[in-house]
Amino acid sequence: MATETRPFNATSFNAYLTEDKRLMGVRCRACGMLSPEPRPLCRSCHSRDLEWHEFSGRGELSTFTCISIGPVYMVEQGFGRNNPYCSGIVTLEEGPRISARILGVDGNNPQNIRTGMDLVLALEEIDPEHPSLMFRPA
Ligand SMILES: [Zn+2]
Repeated sequence: MATETRPFNATSFNAYLTEDKRLMGVRCRACGMLSPEPRPLCRSCHSRDLEWHEFSGRGELSTFTCISIGPVYMVEQGFGRNNPYCSGIVTLEEGPRISARILGVDGNNPQNIRTGMDLVLALEEIDPEHPSLMFRPA
């Protein structure tokens, strides 16, 4: 499928991420709203006149939490009470916020994790079986 005609939904978002290695969201042609969570309707002005927009993949950590009880596939990867993983809200440099796993930080020592730290998308770490956004310190 030509990339420009992909529907505005999570399936397309994940295909861009895992196949094309791009962080794609939508831009509303009517009001300019940018969103990294594609939906067929602008969340701000309800226009359907949308286009795909590529985000740079750079941002900063706004808030985070360290999680001891994860989904089964992550438990199988060794995460759990003794090895919590970090999940955070990343403010993209274009402005919108998105939740993502934060790699390269110590989930056992959250006091050492700084909000405001610069992050980059960790495309190489994304598991095509369980596509989810991951960032690591820049
Ligand atoms: Zn709009």
